[in-house]
Formats: sequence, structure tokens, C-alpha cells
Amino acid sequence: MTDVHVMQPFGGPIVGVPDVPGSKSQTNRALLCAALAEGTSRLSGILFADDTEAMLEAVISLGAEIEADRESASVEVKGIGGDLRFQDIVIDCRSSGTTSRFLLPVLVAGKGNVVIDGSDQLRSRPFDEQIRALRSLGCSLTETRAPGELPIEVVAEGVNGARVEISGATSSQFISGLMLAAPLYTGGLTIELTGTVVSRPYLDLTVNVMNDFGVVVEQPDESTYVIQQGSYGCADIEIEPDASAASYFFAAAAITQGKVKVDGLHRDSCQGDTQFVEVLEKLGAKVTWGKNSIEVQGDRINGGTFDLQDFSDTAQTLASVAAFAESEVEIKGIGFIRVKETDRITAIVSELTKCGVEVTETSDGVIIKPDKWRLKGASIETYHDHRMAMSMSLLGLRVPHIEITNPGCVAKTFPNFFSVLEKLRPSAVPLAEAVAVAAIDGPAGSGKSTVARALAVELNLPHFDTGAMYRAVAVAALRQQIDASDSGAIAALAETVDIKISEKTIVDGIDATEEIRGAEASHLVSVVAANPDVRRILVPRQREWATELGGGVMEGRDIGTEVFPDAIFKVFLTADLQVRAKRRFQETADQTLDDVLQDLKRRDHVDSTRDDSPLEVAPGAVIFDTSNMSAEAVVSELAEMFRLRVEG
Ligand code: C5P
Repeated sequence: MTDVHVMQPFGGPIVGVPDVPGSKSQTNRALLCAALAEGTSRLSGILFADDTEAMLEAVISLGAEIEADRESASVEVKGIGGDLRFQDIVIDCRSSGTTSRFLLPVLVAGKGNVVIDGSDQLRSRPFDEQIRALRSLGCSLTETRAPGELPIEVVAEGVNGARVEISGATSSQFISGLMLAAPLYTGGLTIELTGTVVSRPYLDLTVNVMNDFGVVVEQPDESTYVIQQGSYGCADIEIEPDASAASYFFAAAAITQGKVKVDGLHRDSCQGDTQFVEVLEKLGAKVTWGKNSIEVQGDRINGGTFDLQDFSDTAQTLASVAAFAESEVEIKGIGFIRVKETDRITAIVSELTKCGVEVTETSDGVIIKPDKWRLKGASIETYHDHRMAMSMSLLGLRVPHIEITNPGCVAKTFPNFFSVLEKLRPSAVPLAEAVAVAAIDGPAGSGKSTVARALAVELNLPHFDTGAMYRAVAVAALRQQIDASDSGAIAALAETVDIKISEKTIVDGIDATEEIRGAEASHLVSVVAANPDVRRILVPRQREWATELGGGVMEGRDIGTEVFPDAIFKVFLTADLQVRAKRRFQETADQTLDDVLQDLKRRDHVDSTRDDSPLEVAPGAVIFDTSNMSAEAVVSELAEMFRLRVEG
């Protein structure tokens, strides 16, 4: 894979059933239990990715025998039956937090010397809570580089369990590791949790997997786990699809107004990250909880406040969805994700900001104030964090020029993520079935008219300029000196005025091609267009106009939202206000740049705040910032996107 993956917008709704790989969390727990068990276990639906390869290699180095069938995503594990001896080995956990934090408490229960190490990234992640807990049980651990970090040298002589206290505020993996190791400790182990526990559902997952392998975990109260000394038995386990990985596809459905179903997940799934779907539901998506599937259908995305303490791996996914929301989204309860693969809060802020999203950092999360007009492409830094790459790529489903740097980092948990996503690109619709084929909306000066006209030529389709219709009414009002604020008179005029639009615009039999573009008409048109009765008259005419000619490229302010909400390809063109003003200034002879700018501001305001069909980004529309692009370049990209959507 190259160092940059350039996202090509879908230009339509994602639909399908993605092939989501097995749960990383369940795979790594099950692999460890199976490796410690007596006998042979069979695990199906497992994940083969960097994090689980790390666990596989580790358990092999401890003596487990593995037969892997990568094609069918299954393994057979012949366990060591609790016989945990090693001599001078080094276990490389790569970048896997679960592998390292599950293994450390297990290794101390064996006999021999072992060094546990990992990538530079893993070396920079904290281990101190777990080290402290293990030292309190008398274990000999030496950090050879820096306190509280890998590599750690272990001189293992078994553990007398008893009781241990540990905080769950940084990572639940520390606790899961102690739980998994507890049956190997003489006398078992009682684990007392101090303070808040983040990602609690992962502790339930650990209990579930341990149960699957015959070990009972008692929970006398919220903050205590009691595990007796014992041994793991072998088991046959079916691993669920990874709920965190599934979140990207559910989010894609929300963002593109599509429909995605993931088989193998359900309401009683053992993974806390399925709760992400409830967030999407609260944001407006329609969710169908099947017996053994979850389906998400996108709709308008509302705002809201969401506490993701229990399922923080989906925080970045939610941040990307929030960029397309109608109002503010606050994500809270996730302060601890600063010490994940990267400082995820800082990463969200810096990368979304690059894409034109306003994000503020709070003490335990972020507040995202979306403004879809401002969304723009950017080169996304991924910080060696697979979740940055996967979540930010979702912006690229609707925003051109999103480039994911170092896309290979997805190998940590989802090596073929980009190809699975690509498989769900909507298939092309035959041109004959597509009414009002392309809807191009956007504010004045966004390049809409030039682009729509040229795109129609490029695609050999009719072009419809709906703005010219409103302008024609404004011209008629000027000619007849009708006061624009007299809404009844303007509506009556719209009903009777004779408008013909082709190469030229003819209003009541007189050529008005120039007149409709003049300053006076431009000044008046927003008021005319804000009149609901005028729209009630003109919108059906626009529909007829396009339908009679078999559809084409139609431009305006409400084509994707009102005139043809089912248009097969919807685009919202934007550009910086300054750029738009300069463009308009070059076209007008009778105004100063500042006059043009003020007029644009006023028109943006009137168009986007009017009660009837305000100018807004149509749900699912591609949002295309043209600030730094020539019209030719925009047209050629749009034509390419269009051809992917419509065939014939
Ligand atoms: O696209 P153009 O700038 O020519 O449109 C002129 C005005 O007509 C816009 O500022 C807007 O007020 C109105 N308009 C509209 N709905 C459309 C097209 C144009 O309200 N579909």
C-alpha cells in the first residue's frame, strides 16, 4: 500500500453487508485462555491482524501449539495445561496493548526469566498501574528503560494471590489481565477496583470468555472480583464480529444516508462497542436490532451529548459523524483516550480542524460544532493509530480530497479495511432510471453556475438553472415596480410572468439575459425567493421542466433538499466567503469588492435562514470546497464521481 490513501467520495448511499473481521478483544482473550488450557480448543471467526498475531506469537513462545486456517478465520490451539515455564525469552507484543497487559500478570505466575517488550508506540503507553499491583503481590519486575513502561524484565516464581487493589481509571486492560491470570495464582485472587472504571464492558467480556473456558468469576459487589485458583478447560468458541470495526460501517450509513447490516452482532452481544449504535439511533438513524444482526439506516444527523466512557474506541467514529450533524455534538467521559495508540483527543481536534470542523477540547472530551458549509478535504495525519485512519476516512465518503496518510496502520486490527469499505460503494444506476440526475446546490460564488453548465456539457445532459427563474421574477418585479415586500403581489406576479430559459432568458417576451444578472436583480432575488408562495409556484415548474427533458444537471439552492431529494447525485459546492466575493466581483462592473462581499453575506443569511427551503447541505450530498480549484478541475472531478454513480 502506498503511503497515502486518497478517498474517492461515494456520491451516494452506502448499502450492503460488510465483511467485518472477528473481535480483537474476544480473539486475544480466547487465544490466551486456550493457550493456558488443558487440551485442544477451536476458535472460529477470529481476527488475524497485527494485534492478534502478537498474541499468537506470544502463546506459541510459551509452548502452545497453533494450527491456523487463515482462509476460514479459525485456529486450533493445543494448550500448555497451566505448565508455564520459560527461560530467557523475549516476547514482542508489537503495538498490542491487550497482548502486553494480559500477558504480564500471566507471566509472573510461571517459572523463569522473560522480557516483555513492544514497539516504540507501545513503549510509550503506561503500565504503571499494573506493575504496582503485581509488585504488591511480591512479583519481581524491572523496567529496563523507563519507570512504568516497557520493556519489563520478569523473574517469575509463581504468585501467592490473596488480594490486590487496582485503579480502573486509565485502562481496563490492566484489570482484565489480572483476572485472566488469577486462576494461575496460588490461592486465587481477589481484585478490588479503586475509583472509576473506564471501558467497563470489557471487564464483562473478560468474565464471559473466562466462563467459556470453565473458570468462574464471582462479583460480590460492583468493585470486587473473586477468582479461585483453578485451571482453564479447552473450549470451542465462535468469535463475534468486531463491534468497534463495525462502527465505521454503521457510521458510513449515517453519513451517506445509506443502509448497512452487520451479521453476528445483536443487542446481547458481549462487546460494549455495540452501544455506538444506540448513539446513532439518538442522532436520528433508524436501527433494526435483529436476532443475530444489527442494521443502521441513515437519516438527518441531529446533535446531542454522549458519554462514551464505556465504549471509547468509537469516539473517533462519532467525531466523524458529528462533522455532518445539524447541531452541536459533545463527546464526554473519554479523557483517558489520551494514552491510547496516540493522544486521541488531540488527534481528533487537529485533524477535524484541518477539515473545516470547529472542535473544542474539554477536560474529558470534545465539543464539535459542525458547519457543513465549511467542510473541506485535507491530508489526515494518522499518528500510527488505526482508529484515526478508519474514522477519518469516513469524511471522505462525502468530502473530496480527504487523504489518509500511512493507511497501512489499519493492519493493527483491520488489515483489509479500505477494500471492505470500497466493496460497499453504491453501484451505478442506469441513466434512464435516474430523474434529475445531478443536483448542484450551493451559495452564490461557489462556482455553481459555471460548474453546472460545464458539467452538463461534459456529460452531454441538459442544464437547468433554477436561480434564473427566481431572478426572472425579480426582473419582472423591477420592471413593473412591484415592491418586493408585498408578498401577495410578488406571488401573483410569479404565477403570471412568462419565463423561458434556454441559451437566453426571456421574461414576458423580452430578453432579460443580462438584466437578471444585474445588481438590482441580484439584490432583490433573495427576498423574492424567500417568499413561500413564489416557491410553491416555481418548484413544481422546475420539476416539470427537468422531467420533460429526462433529467440533467440542475443547479440551485434546494435541488437536493426540495426539488429532487431523490436525485441520484447530489453536490453542495462551497468556497470561502472571500474567494466567492472575489469571483463575483470579477463578474460585476457596478460594485466594489466590499459591496459584493456584504451583499453575499446578506444573501447567504437570507437564503440559509428563510423558513421555506433554506439553503442547506442536502442529506448525503457530496460537499465540495472549490476555494483553491479551477472550474475545469472541479468539473472533471465531478464528472468522474458522476460516472461512478450513473451508467449509460
Ligand atoms: O443561483 P443564483 O445566484 O442565480 O440564484 C439567485 C437567487 O435565487 C439565490 O440567491 C436564491 O435566493 C434564489 N434561489 C433559490 N432556490 C433555487 C435557486 C435560486 O432560492 N433553487
